[in-house]
Amino acid sequence: MRKHRQFFLISAGPTREFLDPARYLSNPSSGRMGIELARAASRLGHDVHLVHGSCSIRLPRSPRVRACAVTTALQMRKELCKVFARSDFLIMAAAVCDFRAKRFSARKIKKTAPGAHVLKLVRNPDILCELGQRKKHQIIVGFSAESHDMIRNAKAKLCAKNLDFIVANQIGGTASAFGSKTNRVFVFGKDGSSNSYARISKKRLAGLLIKFFLKSGSA
Ligand code: C5P
Repeated sequence: MRKHRQFFLISAGPTREFLDPARYLSNPSSGRMGIELARAASRLGHDVHLVHGSCSIRLPRSPRVRACAVTTALQMRKELCKVFARSDFLIMAAAVCDFRAKRFSARKIKKTAPGAHVLKLVRNPDILCELGQRKKHQIIVGFSAESHDMIRNAKAKLCAKNLDFIVANQIGGTASAFGSKTNRVFVFGKDGSSNSYARISKKRLAGLLIKFFLKSGSA
């Protein structure tokens, strides 16, 4: 039986991978889904450590939420690794950049410089996959944003990253979850369960998801 007050580690928003002081790689994530999840967990009386990239919406003000701002995937990884062992739930709602510049240039790269149009990238670590390998008592939830083959890809990640649940949503097109106040998702569990949630506000969805994860965690 789990204790009454749970500790949620939640990531939100995009990472930014700087090429030089003026330019970065990133994505259109607003951070809303992760922030609403943090709000929902704290409203239910739980403690939250929220690790967030550059978000365009207001952060929770609750004394139960400790927010930690990061910029890059490597910084996000460092912070999450620090807190993971004492968390009960990890929810990775962040849109982590898969690549970063091979070399950061401390000087702004001149567009006329030789080779300025060539971008050399290296893979960022897959934070969720790493924490999935370290999992002990934690319930781990990943998010899968897909433009195609949403269900097949989400189920593959559930297994590959050793997750308890994966929340799958669509990106691209008119129904895109990126930057939207609403979302429509499917949740797949490692036990083979599947649940779908009709399009509702991310705020309402966050409340339903947190209650669902808490219930499965105490089963
Ligand atoms: O493999 P994919 O990037 O689609 O998986 C998405 C899930 O993995 C999200 O929960 C995201 O936060 C996490 N992720 C991560 N580290 C990365 C890339 C994605 O933790 N480098």
